[in-house]
Amino acid sequence: MAYATVNPYTNEVVKEYPNATASEIQKALENGNDLFKRWEKEQPTHRAEQLHEIAKLFRQNRDYLAKAMVTDMGKLYREAQGEVDLCAMIADYFADHGADLLAPTKIETVATGDAQIQKHPLGVLMMVEPWNFPMYQIMRVFAPNFMVGNPMILKHASNTPGSAVAFENMIKQSSAPDASLQNLFLSYDQVAEIIADSRVQGVALTGSERGGRSVAKTAGENLKKNTMELGGTDAFIVLDDADIDSVTDIAWRARLYNAGQVCTSSKRFIVAANLYDKFLAKLKENFANVKPGDPMDSQTTLAPMNSKRAKDKLQAQVDDAIAKGATLYYGNEKIDLPGQFFQPTILTNVQKDNPAYAQEMFGPVAQVYKANSDQEAIDLANDSDLGLGGIVFSGDPKRGTKVASQIETGMVFVNNFMVSLPDLPFGGVKNSGYGREMSSLGLNAFVNEQLIVTTDKPNMNNLAGGLVATDPK
Ligand code: NAP
Repeated sequence: MAYATVNPYTNEVVKEYPNATASEIQKALENGNDLFKRWEKEQPTHRAEQLHEIAKLFRQNRDYLAKAMVTDMGKLYREAQGEVDLCAMIADYFADHGADLLAPTKIETVATGDAQIQKHPLGVLMMVEPWNFPMYQIMRVFAPNFMVGNPMILKHASNTPGSAVAFENMIKQSSAPDASLQNLFLSYDQVAEIIADSRVQGVALTGSERGGRSVAKTAGENLKKNTMELGGTDAFIVLDDADIDSVTDIAWRARLYNAGQVCTSSKRFIVAANLYDKFLAKLKENFANVKPGDPMDSQTTLAPMNSKRAKDKLQAQVDDAIAKGATLYYGNEKIDLPGQFFQPTILTNVQKDNPAYAQEMFGPVAQVYKANSDQEAIDLANDSDLGLGGIVFSGDPKRGTKVASQIETGMVFVNNFMVSLPDLPFGGVKNSGYGREMSSLGLNAFVNEQLIVTTDKPNMNNLAGGLVATDPK
């Protein structure tokens, strides 16, 4: 069976789930479309209370939801609890602000009459999500689209089915309609069939470039609007005036949080020449201090990777990078535990012709580069087909911001961690995808921005200079 929870700390097969049947899929589409027709007639204010209720259920069921994630993909329990809190915050944010953000807006126009843009839902959405933040990734799409009035069908990653069920349970326990979010265990072909169905009007995917290309192709062939949140090789730039002690304290966390399996993890550390040696020594010291172990234990600081497959892929990438000339500065030794642990590893001297230079390494591996000027750091950061996020450190925030604005990515933070919050847009450029989630930009991703121009009575001189039939004289 494709969908299974295999605990990556114990390697135990906890539970397997059969794929959805054709009739379950048809029922989900029918239910979703019926709800869409109902929601089209209702104001978003109607749903705000239900979304607050869902936020409350997340808080009340914090440990149940967090444990489901730890069992599915091995993240640290306290990080999982934090993820549940963030989900509740996102739900509350869109419940509080959704209706205002969806209010009609007037347009000043030369046309006769009152012009406005009304925001309507589009229809059922197909949501395809990854395992790395099994609740937050769903909530990023769910909360705004619940307010818009787009019912959703979820295809979660095949290794996080327990989290998908737990999330869906929260919706079922709330007074929101069950068809708001329907989880189905789908094959890739079944996802394509759903996208092709005329009741489905949008597709949101978060995942790899490979998965994104495939699903975006199907969406394109069927003319379905879509957003793609894909991978990143985010740069962590340290300028020559940065406070090296606070930078090094942030650096290891920015790489090892969620066992390094974050799209916006810092993956390439680009450090000014005068700080390079100290930075490397401190990064090694901090990497060496982590404690691998049971993710449920509060003393553990390094979680296992999400699956054997992911660990094997990372191992192959690191071995290949070293074989092709990279220097192993630290790590890459076996951790003597049965779970899917990968020792934090530092690579230097990764040259442009090394495959690792361009690859996303989705685990606890840092590449460290030296830069002799701000421009060299910017050029190196931009020498990537991916463009998701990044961080710049400088003793002078203005200088940091000037460098940040030259980085070709969707998000850059100056002098701090990258954080994800409901009022900040999230998304990338280049092969990191397109579209934004969260904030007003994410709320409007799947909205029919309908123009309505109302004139009191028919008026032959309605349009000044517009396209209008003229009398043949
Ligand atoms: P993935 O293989 O693309 O999987 C993500 C989701 O897409 C899973 O549900 C997967 O299903 C599904 N999928 C993949 N190919 C598909 C296809 N052809 N048709 C239908 N569904 C398909 O991604 P991953 O490697 O597990 O996840 C890690 C990647 O996600 C990294 O590259 C990371 O940077 C990126 N990511 C991006 C963001 C962002 O916001 N930009 C956030 C988190 C992660 P199965 O599990 O069944 O294969």
